[in-house]
Amino acid sequence: MKINLILILFFASSTLFGAGSRFTNESKFKKGNVVIVMTIDWEGRELSKENLEALKAFRNKYPGIPILHFLNAAYYTKPDANAAEITKKIKSVMRKHDEHGLHIHAWKSLVEASGVKFKTKPDLGGWSLRNCQFDCGHVVSLTAYSAEEMQKIIRKSNEILVKNGFSRPKSFRSGAWQTGPTVATALSREGFYLDSSATVDYFVSRSWGKSSLLVQSINRLWPGMSTVKQPYLMKTEHKPIWQLPNNASLADYTKPNTIFRTLKDNVDEFLRNPKPVHYVVTGFHLETAKRYLPRVEKALEKIIDYSSSKGVPIQFAHFPINLEGRR
Ligand SMILES: [Zn+2]
Repeated sequence: MKINLILILFFASSTLFGAGSRFTNESKFKKGNVVIVMTIDWEGRELSKENLEALKAFRNKYPGIPILHFLNAAYYTKPDANAAEITKKIKSVMRKHDEHGLHIHAWKSLVEASGVKFKTKPDLGGWSLRNCQFDCGHVVSLTAYSAEEMQKIIRKSNEILVKNGFSRPKSFRSGAWQTGPTVATALSREGFYLDSSATVDYFVSRSWGKSSLLVQSINRLWPGMSTVKQPYLMKTEHKPIWQLPNNASLADYTKPNTIFRTLKDNVDEFLRNPKPVHYVVTGFHLETAKRYLPRVEKALEKIIDYSSSKGVPIQFAHFPINLEGRR
């Protein structure tokens, strides 16, 4: 099973929509497949050796899985930042077939480096203002900032990443999935084509509690979201941008079986309603990779087995290449 999995993953990623994307000859689906988009949220908090090592081990074990990294510029704005070291660490776990977008949390150091006044509310976790002499603001909601302020923070983040050898991000995920109207408008004005912040409260409510500010904000921002929700065009005050829902959430908030169940929801939805491509977006955080990556791995192995038993082709890709307006 292990060897097959590795071969399948490698094969699946070697071609995106060609014949190679099918891992079984018995597939009854001649034109469609389920695409798993693996994402990493880089929190901008710290780059510890143990989490980078855990991610490296994953990359070596599954070289065929491309990753869409949502990078965070706040590593570079910390008081003790060593830019060359940070870049080296981030690049050590990136691979040629990866892509990267941008991830923003309202870190005080980043907000102030952007020339914007730091805001302290709403603090979705109630602990975001600890240790402000070093840096703070991790889960202060981005909705606190106006579109103009967000544009400045986005611009600064892009500038930092480009200065340190990364390409200019075009895709985005908000810290704590907080893409409200002002964030979406700022993204569109700054030339982003994609946001991947729409999510379900399903996982988060188990660990944060249904009455937490985080869960309430997710429900307010993303009404009608589901674990099988597909990409759609999202209105902004500028041009519309694509929303690629993070429909399978992120590994931190759940157990392997729950991750598997959301992946299975998507395979079952594809079985009911086959289409050329059905997206399922999952992932994890760099800062907790050592702890939670094994859960992702277990869920992947189970979904490959399940899909195979149903004859559903699975493919790993890092962004939706067949959407209108993209490439
Ligand atoms: Zn985050």
